[in-house]
Amino acid sequence: MTQRDPQRDKVDGVDGSRAVEDSDDAEPKKERVLHTRVPAVLERELKRFADNLRVPVSNLVRTILEDALNVADAATENVESRLRNAAKQLEHERERLKARVKFDPLKDVFAFQSVTLAQDATCAKCERDLAAGSRANLGLTDEPTNGKKKPRIFVCDECLPGAR
Ligand SMILES: [Zn+2]
Repeated sequence: MTQRDPQRDKVDGVDGSRAVEDSDDAEPKKERVLHTRVPAVLERELKRFADNLRVPVSNLVRTILEDALNVADAATENVESRLRNAAKQLEHERERLKARVKFDPLKDVFAFQSVTLAQDATCAKCERDLAAGSRANLGLTDEPTNGKKKPRIFVCDECLPGAR
C-alpha cells in the first residue's frame, strides 16, 4: 500500500519547482523587526556611540527613534531621515543620552594603578586617545560575579579622582 506523501505530490505536480512552504518560521514575536538602509558613516557613528555607552546598538537606535518620534513631523519624514537627523544631534545630545542610560564608566573601580600602556587605549572618562607607550591609569574592579568579562578601564591623569 502506498502512503501518500503530500510533499512529494507537490513536487511532482509543479514540474519540480517546490512550493515555498518550508520558510515558514512563524514564531510569535512581541516586537516588530524594522529593516532599514543606513549610510556606512551613520552605522559607524551609531556603533561607536553605542560602544561608548556600552549599550547594544539596537537599544540606542530605539531610544533615538523614540526621541525622534516625539518631536518629528510624522507626515513628512521617513525612518531613514529621522535616524539621520537624530544622528546629527548625537554629538550635542551625548551628555543627555549618557545621563539617560545612567552611565558611569568608573562606577565599579575601587582603585587606580599607574601603568605604561602596551596598546592604544581611550580614556574611559574624557575619551581622549591614549597611545601605546604613554602613561595611563588602569581602573581596578572586582571580578564580575556573573562570569561576564568587563572591558578594561583606563583613564588619563587629568581624569583621576582628585586630580587638579
Ligand atoms: Zn581623561
